[in-house]
Amino acid sequence: MSRMINTVTGPVSSDNLGAVLAHEHVLFGYPGYEGDATCNVWDEERFFGVVEPVIEKIKAQGIRTIVDATPNDCGRDAAMLKKISERCGINIICSTGYYYERGGASAYWNFRRNFGFPADEEVYELMKLELNEGIAKTGVKAGVIKVASGIGAIGDYEKMFFLAACRLAKEDPGVRIVTHCSHGTMLKEQAELFISEGVNPNQVQLGHFCDTVDLSAQIDVMEKGFYAGFDRMGQVGFDGMPYDDDRLAAICALTSLGFGKRILLSNDRIYWFLGREFLLSKQIVDTLIKEWHWTYIFEKLLPKLQKMGLSEEQTHGFMFENPAGFYGGALA
Ligand SMILES: [Zn+2]
Repeated sequence: MSRMINTVTGPVSSDNLGAVLAHEHVLFGYPGYEGDATCNVWDEERFFGVVEPVIEKIKAQGIRTIVDATPNDCGRDAAMLKKISERCGINIICSTGYYYERGGASAYWNFRRNFGFPADEEVYELMKLELNEGIAKTGVKAGVIKVASGIGAIGDYEKMFFLAACRLAKEDPGVRIVTHCSHGTMLKEQAELFISEGVNPNQVQLGHFCDTVDLSAQIDVMEKGFYAGFDRMGQVGFDGMPYDDDRLAAICALTSLGFGKRILLSNDRIYWFLGREFLLSKQIVDTLIKEWHWTYIFEKLLPKLQKMGLSEEQTHGFMFENPAGFYGGALA
């Protein structure tokens, strides 16, 4: 079974996605960056100087597609993603959706809700338009919906986006949803919400699955049929994040339980922070985010997983067959 997936340059068959980085951000800004533009003026050539060589390297590894999960309120720039895709010769799937309430630009939709506008309906219509007609006047159609919840709760504001995504997923079996679980919390609650709204778990990739070490919660949602985004690989040890050795042990455990075909890998790497540059101390750069880059998975993680007992076929699946299955698979 295959399906045509909307990338920023047009539809591509799910059979032709190659290896896929399932959750990344080429450009990302926390809302508020727009007011701080003076201190790091956008420099397109410098940006390409950083990103283009990396994309050349990952193409040589077999990666043909990047899913850019940047929400609308965090600097998602469909026209720029299209430019990057064309210039660098790589598929990019762009998303439609909003970040969690505390991390995103919640003022706008909360303002509309508080003034009695039908924000629920407006959010649904916005996502529907971006999936089916395109984003503003860019001609780019979103290929996936992004929804997010905060630490330890799915608030009413966040639920508005989840419910719109659920409606769209039920109306169109081709719709796919990628989520953000802050600190790896709310896996079970997100899963329960999707199921109670009648969404097929095959349409949903629960994100930041690797930010918890709660194996029983991970098993619980995988048993229900959801896809798992081990999507922050290489970003470890701060903000409550586990280390990759723990994450790899979880991948092996889940695979041994028969869930290996529903695991996707990625880095959640941001290659350009909108606003001020993300300059961390050398100590952090050399330790906690040393491997936070797009070549890490093929260079180090997959060989390590093989040493831990997984077959080459299984590790190949994480990058090739599983994303193709998620984006193109049947819903049975
Ligand atoms: Zn992300």
